[in-house]
Amino acid sequence: MTDCIFCRIAQGEIPSDTVFEDDEVLAFRDLNPQAPVHILVIPKRHIATLNDLSAEDAGLVGRLHWVAAQLARQEGIAEDGYRTVINCNPAGGQSVYHLHLHLLGGRQMAWPAG
Ligand code: C5P
Repeated sequence: MTDCIFCRIAQGEIPSDTVFEDDEVLAFRDLNPQAPVHILVIPKRHIATLNDLSAEDAGLVGRLHWVAAQLARQEGIAEDGYRTVINCNPAGGQSVYHLHLHLLGGRQMAWPAG
């Protein structure tokens, strides 16, 4: 989708501070970080929301989480702890309609999430 900002980032049309990339997945630092470590892990293929996943996408979603866990180790936040979040649709706080997993760490998280 050419009008999707994360598709354009995934295709290299818009630069990003990339921290991981393979054939299926890209991870880059959030432009407006909400924690000392705030990375977005996205599938390169356009999937708008969690609601749009098919059964065949289950492995891909697992891979997003595996990548996040590797990055947490790389960023030095794995032992203290961190949070992963996928926002879905307006009530879930989603603003970019290309599936993305937030990896947040480097500070104490509060619960319940706002
Ligand atoms: O879950 P949600 O859709 O609200 O998150 C979108 C995230 O994408 C925000 O944290 C925002 O800062 C980030 N973003 C970005 N680079 C862009 C557009 C949005 O890092 N060009």
